[in-house]
Amino acid sequence: MAFIEASSPHTMNTYGRLPIALSHGQGVRVWDVNGKQYLDALAGIAVNTLGHNHPKLVPALQDQVSKIIHSCNYYHVPNQERLAAELTALSGMTNAFFCCTGLEANEAAIKLARKYGHDRGIERPEIVVYEKAFHGRSIATLSATGNEKVQKGFGPLVEGFIRVPLNDIAALKAATEGNRNVVAVFFETIQGEGGINPMRLDYLQQVRQLCDQQEWLLMIDEVQCGMGRTGKWFAHQWAGIVPDVMPLAKGLGSGVPVGAVVAGPKAADIFQPGNHGTTFGGNPLAMRAGVETIRIMKEDRLLENASTVGSHLKGALAREIGGLAGVKEIRGQGLMIGVELEKNCNVLTPRAAEAGLLISVTADNVIRLLPPLIMTTSEADEVVSILAPLVKEFLAQ
Ligand SMILES: *Cc1c(COP(=O)(O)O)cnc(C)c1O
Repeated sequence: MAFIEASSPHTMNTYGRLPIALSHGQGVRVWDVNGKQYLDALAGIAVNTLGHNHPKLVPALQDQVSKIIHSCNYYHVPNQERLAAELTALSGMTNAFFCCTGLEANEAAIKLARKYGHDRGIERPEIVVYEKAFHGRSIATLSATGNEKVQKGFGPLVEGFIRVPLNDIAALKAATEGNRNVVAVFFETIQGEGGINPMRLDYLQQVRQLCDQQEWLLMIDEVQCGMGRTGKWFAHQWAGIVPDVMPLAKGLGSGVPVGAVVAGPKAADIFQPGNHGTTFGGNPLAMRAGVETIRIMKEDRLLENASTVGSHLKGALAREIGGLAGVKEIRGQGLMIGVELEKNCNVLTPRAAEAGLLISVTADNVIRLLPPLIMTTSEADEVVSILAPLVKEFLAQ
């Protein structure tokens, strides 16, 4: 047995890690260094869109690595244009900027909103953000985040954010009434870290309308809920709306770090040369991963799969544990599913891993399932057959 140290002496102590080190994977299964097998219902937090060792992705990445990994943005990277064309066609928007992570995409969005304001003579632009939101851990994005645990110890926070509750158009109007400094409204279509909390479709439509009336930017963080996870390319598309700014990351590169901020006509020309940049962003390996991920998702009809398998999974969970005392709600869309319990259930993450299933618990009492989009219905049944007894046992304690 390979010994997994409970704490690593030379890495910073930033994560409460499980005593597991994964070695390799195949499809929706992964193995640890001791040879133990797990069913992956987390996908590295919504990252491994195509699962592990995908037969179409791996040769493409190998080909790219053997050609060029990084070149830098002093030169054109042809796949940047190709990936931007895909993302803008899929979203109904016009231009993209590439970076590496979710927080970087959100930083770019915040900078876009501020410059949008400055270009219009607003010296102290303000952005509306939401309770329970998660936008990342840089100083600006943690200030936009609606979670004191994320912010504690890192003040002073960045100013210029107005916080409102979810799905309450009257509260949004009241919080911004007469405020000429407002430049943007910024939220996740379905909050991920906050506990799988969806914005209602009619609320999304109302906010779109309000942003049009007020000439605010509608900025939708699709870092976790985007890239096909809910059964549409982007979760807000269920409401038939198009945002002005859309940060993406997590699932975009199937495991290779790729971030993007996609913009529509109101925001596409705000950045001019010198306003923004990043060394690794849009590098040839990352762009190849993005282009191939989208190609394979289309070829293998993974949006349809996310919808079908997601409904199947949610249905099976509802049947097996939905009626139990202590289960508050089963919610989400496609393969982004949350099971809210009435009590703190963080202990279920290690118990599920012990039983051979990778999941996470978020917001302390929400079991979160974010499997690869290639999962089949029988694999989804397997998830439930491992998870349901654990939940029953936990609630009976
Ligand atoms: C994960 C996440 C982020 C931050 O992404 P990083 O790549 O960890 O910086 C931002 N927004 C949402 C909605 C996320 O889920």
